[in-house]
Amino acid sequence: MKSKNTNKLLYIHIPFCDSKCNYCAFNSYTNINHLKKEYFNAIKKQYLHDTDSNIQFETVFIGGGTPSTMPVNFYENLFTLIEENIKNAKEITIEANPNVTYEWLKEIKNLGINRISFGVQSFNEKKLKFLNRNHSPTQAIKSIENAKKTGFENINLDLIYATALDNKKLLENDLKIAFNLPITHISAYSLTIEEGTKWEGDYSKRKEDEILEIWFIDKIKERFFHYEISNFGKICLHNLGYWEGKEYTGLGAGAVGFKKLKIKNGKWKIFRYYTQNSVYEYLKNPTKYNYEYLSDEDIKKEKIFLGLRSIVGFDEKILNIKEKERTETLINEKKLYKKENKIYSNDFLLADALTKFIIS
Ligand code: SF4
Repeated sequence: MKSKNTNKLLYIHIPFCDSKCNYCAFNSYTNINHLKKEYFNAIKKQYLHDTDSNIQFETVFIGGGTPSTMPVNFYENLFTLIEENIKNAKEITIEANPNVTYEWLKEIKNLGINRISFGVQSFNEKKLKFLNRNHSPTQAIKSIENAKKTGFENINLDLIYATALDNKKLLENDLKIAFNLPITHISAYSLTIEEGTKWEGDYSKRKEDEILEIWFIDKIKERFFHYEISNFGKICLHNLGYWEGKEYTGLGAGAVGFKKLKIKNGKWKIFRYYTQNSVYEYLKNPTKYNYEYLSDEDIKKEKIFLGLRSIVGFDEKILNIKEKERTETLINEKKLYKKENKIYSNDFLLADALTKFIIS
C-alpha cells in the first residue's frame, strides 16, 4: 500500500491504558502491558510495509489509549524509525494522562514532539472518580505546568461535559482553573453513552441540559477560537488535515488509514483501511487490513458534514441542483453563509441536521 504522495498525516495508535474509564469506547486495554515490546516490532513491520522515503508527513499524532504509558525508549525507537519521513513535519502531537512525570515530559519534548494533549476531563475530584479516571485535579494542574516548564508551547486539555454530575458551578470551576493554566487549546466533548463501555445503555450517567451545554461552549468561546464542534484555540493541524480530506497513514492496532489512488481515465479509488482491532491479532499480522471503499456520494456527504462542523466549509460546486436549492434556503435562514464559492456554517453544533437537510 505504498504511495508516493506527500503532505500526508501520520497517526500512531497506542492501545495501552492504566485503567479503563467508564465511558471509554476506544481501542484500549489495561491488561496487556507485557505486549509493549512486541507492539513496537509490529508497528515497525507495518511502517516499513506501508511507507517509503518519498513520503513526507506534515503532521504526526500519537494517540490512544494512553501514549504516556509507554516508556521513553519506545519513542526513541519510534522516532529513529520514522525520522526520514518527518523532516518537514510542522506538528507532532502526543496524548498524555495527567499522571506523567516531569522527566517523561522532558525527554519526550527533546525527541521533537511539539504539541501535547492531556486527558484532564475535569478538575473536580468527584467527577474524575465518577468517570473512573486515575488522576487527581492536582496532578492535572501540575502536569500542564510541567509541560510548559519543559518547553511545550502548544498544550491542549480535554474536558468532558454533559455528565450527570455537571452543573454550572462545577463547569465554571473547571473553566476557571483551565483558563489559568498555560494552555493554547481546549477540546470539549459532550459525554456519549457508547456500546461496549461500562456505561452501555445507562443514560442516567448523562445530563440532558441543552442550556447548560450552550452556556459552557459560549464560555470557552470567550477565551478560545471555536474552529470545530469540539475544538477551541490554536488550530490542531493534524485534525484540520482530517477534516480537509487529506490522506493519512494509520499505524497500530485498530488504526485507520485513508488513501486516494489514481486509476484509469483520471478516476480515483478512495478508501479507508483498518488494521486488526485486537492487539493479539495485530501482533500476529500488522499488515492485514479490512477495506472500506468510498463512493462519490460518500465522499460528498463527508465533505459537507466535516466542512459544516468546522471552519473548513465545503465547495459549492460539489452540490447538484436540488442540493444547491436547499443550501440557498439555509443561507436565507442565516444557518449557513457563502464566501468565495464555499459554504460555511454559522453553528457547528447543527452540522448533522444541516447535512441531512442538504442531501435529503
Ligand atoms: S485514558 Fe482514554 S483511552 Fe484510556 S480508558 Fe480512559 S478514555 Fe479510554
